[in-house]
Amino acid sequence: MDTGRFIPSRAFIEEEALQYSLGEVIRRRLLTLKVPVRVMKHGQRPEVTGRNPTQVYAESKKTLVVRVRKEKEFSSCKPSAHYQLPLATSCPGLCEYCYLQTRLGSRPYLRVYANIEEILAEAGRLIAEREPEITVFEGAATSDPLATEHITGSLRRSIDFFGAIPQARFRFVTKFADVEPILGARHEGRTTVRFSVNANHVIRAYEHSTGTLEQRLDALGRVNRDGYPVGVMIGPVMTFDGWKEEYRGLLDRLSLTIGESPAGLPVEIITHRFTSRAKDNILSVFPASSLPMQEEDRRLVYGQFGYTKYVYSKETMGEVRDFFLEEVARRLPGARIEYLV
Ligand code: SF4
Repeated sequence: MDTGRFIPSRAFIEEEALQYSLGEVIRRRLLTLKVPVRVMKHGQRPEVTGRNPTQVYAESKKTLVVRVRKEKEFSSCKPSAHYQLPLATSCPGLCEYCYLQTRLGSRPYLRVYANIEEILAEAGRLIAEREPEITVFEGAATSDPLATEHITGSLRRSIDFFGAIPQARFRFVTKFADVEPILGARHEGRTTVRFSVNANHVIRAYEHSTGTLEQRLDALGRVNRDGYPVGVMIGPVMTFDGWKEEYRGLLDRLSLTIGESPAGLPVEIITHRFTSRAKDNILSVFPASSLPMQEEDRRLVYGQFGYTKYVYSKETMGEVRDFFLEEVARRLPGARIEYLV
């Protein structure tokens, strides 16, 4: 089955990255994929050109940079995990609503790291520090690490690494579907693979260059059969004409994919929201976007970190909440809604 495997248009490798065995492995893989590769100095910016912000953004997303990650510290990742595991930054997807747009700026080229063993050594140190408590790492806080896995292998290496440590847990979420490279890894049930899915209407209108819904569901079935704990993230939920029918259909397809849903299947549900800054960024990159971002239709609330965001009205939120509580219980019995915001 076609999984929409990502092939960069160009790649830049830092000189220092080639001193790591993974740097050399990545270089060879890129050449096999016929990707033009240039070597550059540490800190140099890759050349990405385009006639307007839309083109620069799209070309950046097709540009891979292989670096040595110098910062030793991991960012915290509350409340879902203790730490972010820095496997990659950015992703080749072009989702119009992407939460990373505000964070990564106008040139969100993909960065992967050759010094994976040093990164995992730091993860091991952090785990030891918290023993005998469990330490949870999130692998998708700044990227979609599955998208570049066929080039780096870093995700599988991390899954094996955490699989060998009883006090470690690892989780990541993806909108991609090329799970072949992680099947058969020694996960020992310590890695949870979550798939981000949505109504087909939302995927077709606003998600570009990601796996299709069919591909993601197929991939979910495969990792589930491979014994991985799995999870589902539904979002951003939007209330377009016919939304209930479409989300019911999605839940039915999820139920068909994973059969008797594993007891406690974690389900995360996030409604669509936006900040003024995100809206400006989105419209500079996707000027014709039809994302529902009319402030007058929304309620302004203060976010966790002091900024304001526009969310659905209390009435709509209540309707969405009632709908999912009822339909998830009916169509995915045994599932556990971790949050519905
Ligand atoms: Fe952003 Fe995820 Fe879409 Fe990538 S797949 S563009 S990280 S929302």
